[in-house]
Amino acid sequence: MFSKILIANRGEIALRILRACREMGIRTVAVHSTADADAMHVRLADESVCIGPPSLTESYLNKAAILSAATITGAEAIHPGYGFLSENASFAELVEEHGISFIGPNPEHIRMMGDKIQAKITMKQFNVPLVPGSDGALQDIATAYKIADEIGYPVLIKAAAGGGGRGMKVAYSKDELEEAWKVARTEAQMAFGNDEVYLEKYLDNPRHIELQIIGDSYGNVVHLGERDCSLQRRHQKVLEEALSPVLTDEQRQKISSIVTNAMKNLKYRNAGTLEFLYQDGHFCFIEMNTRLQVEHPVSEYVSNIDLVREQICVAAGEKLSFIQNDIHLRGHSIECRINAEDPVTFAPSPGTIKMFHPPGGLGVRLDSALYQGYKIPPYYDSLIAKLIVYAPTRTEAIARMKRALEEFVISGVNTTIPLHQAILNDEEFQRGEYTIHWLENFIAKNQQ
Ligand code: ADP
Repeated sequence: MFSKILIANRGEIALRILRACREMGIRTVAVHSTADADAMHVRLADESVCIGPPSLTESYLNKAAILSAATITGAEAIHPGYGFLSENASFAELVEEHGISFIGPNPEHIRMMGDKIQAKITMKQFNVPLVPGSDGALQDIATAYKIADEIGYPVLIKAAAGGGGRGMKVAYSKDELEEAWKVARTEAQMAFGNDEVYLEKYLDNPRHIELQIIGDSYGNVVHLGERDCSLQRRHQKVLEEALSPVLTDEQRQKISSIVTNAMKNLKYRNAGTLEFLYQDGHFCFIEMNTRLQVEHPVSEYVSNIDLVREQICVAAGEKLSFIQNDIHLRGHSIECRINAEDPVTFAPSPGTIKMFHPPGGLGVRLDSALYQGYKIPPYYDSLIAKLIVYAPTRTEAIARMKRALEEFVISGVNTTIPLHQAILNDEEFQRGEYTIHWLENFIAKNQQ
């Protein structure tokens, strides 16, 4: 096992990883930008290294600075968290070339899944169901017209290198296709430096359901059930739950055996998530994330597995400490992503935390790096806290989340707590009747 790990991230996820390391008796190295000198992850780590000024490219995306920090401090492994360099295959390669372990999959798998076209081609080989669409990259607009005619409108043009909902454009009819194709390519080129795009049927009312898996270096792969992440705004997840309120045990069994089989064939190591759209009883694969996800705590609650600990163990060459039959998915868990934003306009709201009172009690978990007096820097993501609850049933989990949100005091900045409260009080939500479009409609209705 490693004796020292460098955490190449910030905020709540840096803290989450640090906590797992502490419990495992592993020393930690925090890296930080000058804007994060007072951050909680820096205060709690055994050692810390300043890696640059606030801008991301000069700090948290600065491969050379992070590698130097690991070398100077003698870290044996790097945990990238999510975002930043977590899905950067060349960074993973560079880390390994320096004799340091990358806590993630082997770089070949990061590269394969980072190219969404390649990911779909790979999944197809293993009989994972896909969204109907082009078989590979779209070479020209004529091919786009041809495929769209075959599968029917609306269609979606998506960037091969896509992420964060960028480089994605819908065409509801033939006359919108050329424009969608142009805009998606331009956006993709600007965001990812790669204008390769593909085409998919635009599903009108799907749910977003994703499977959590974890594999080791010995070909063992176990799934931890699914998460329902349909509540999204601008393709960004807002509230997630495990398990999904709509899947039967039989459906879960079927899709998870297809997925684990595919991952075993790939010899995939690390935690991973296969994202699907689910409509009319059918699953359609959209992409795979080869890292820890923001919403991993809901799966931890229902499976009773510490995903970060397992990631560290498998990266250190250990076997998974459990087999599929050891996993008994139980109860219900919900996560609310709380952002420092105006709950109505969603404008970012950085500033100083004047009062901070976290909720507590049975079945309540708060993953947050906030503290009273902390100054939220304006340079980074607005996620400031993840509030996660667990209860035997979904109804009880909703009641518990409402109670926990009521207790939660954050003052000095605006937060999205009121939005979460409104969602939890909605009867459709309470009945589990929602799709990926539900939240945008809900927000529009509430703004009237
Ligand atoms: P990104 O990597 O940019 O997040 P994804 O492929 O994961 O892109 O898609 C993000 C979200 O966009 C999905 O959760 C879903 O809400 C929507 N989406 C993606 N593909 C489709 C599709 N074919 N039909 C309808 N909605 C889609």
